[in-house]
Amino acid sequence: METGLSSDPEMNWRLSSLDRYTLVSNSDLHSFWPWRIGREANIFNLTELSYDELINAIKNKKVSTIEVDPGYGKYHFDGHRNCKVSMSPEETKKNNNLCPVCGKPLVIGVLNRVEELADRPKGFIPENAQKFFKLMPLSEIISMVKGWKFSTKKNINEYYRIVSGGRTEYYILLNASEEELLALTEKDIVENILKNRKGDIEVKPGYDGEYGIPVYGNVKEK
Ligand SMILES: [Zn+2]
Repeated sequence: METGLSSDPEMNWRLSSLDRYTLVSNSDLHSFWPWRIGREANIFNLTELSYDELINAIKNKKVSTIEVDPGYGKYHFDGHRNCKVSMSPEETKKNNNLCPVCGKPLVIGVLNRVEELADRPKGFIPENAQKFFKLMPLSEIISMVKGWKFSTKKNINEYYRIVSGGRTEYYILLNASEEELLALTEKDIVENILKNRKGDIEVKPGYDGEYGIPVYGNVKEK
């Protein structure tokens, strides 16, 4: 079962009927931006790189996934873009699915659908749950900190400066030490790479076709 960008394992774990499936996550490229490749990925635990090993890993849940926070998706929360109304499923319920500004039915998002289907409470972790990492791509961390659009030349240049010398983006995001990062880029970016590693960057969820956005400087409530 693919979690994709719109959901993550925590959302899938709320449906007991999905327990028998192995979760995988792949990045898509339906826009023309090549740097979107790899923002979602699978980590396989293999003894050798072969077709049989790969199939066995999937069959036996020996897969971890890398996920972008589903809050970035365009339809995570419910709302009305033109009315600037964004609501969690709980708030939507209190408002009888209606927009408090225009009175029309709200556009219902993914999280609301999960609430509708869920047979387990929020935060439930099943036995044999697969491990996963929730990561914001490096180019988007730079963009958030510097206030640059991530498609601009200066943002892309900073990205390539940090991953220079054979370092991969995942190495930077997951493994590089604070000292090593400080030698590569400025303190604010390093702090946010480390925050991202702990899942501490707050996301203002997307709704009604509006992408979710990271909230710079805030620490996510847990
Ligand atoms: Zn409205």
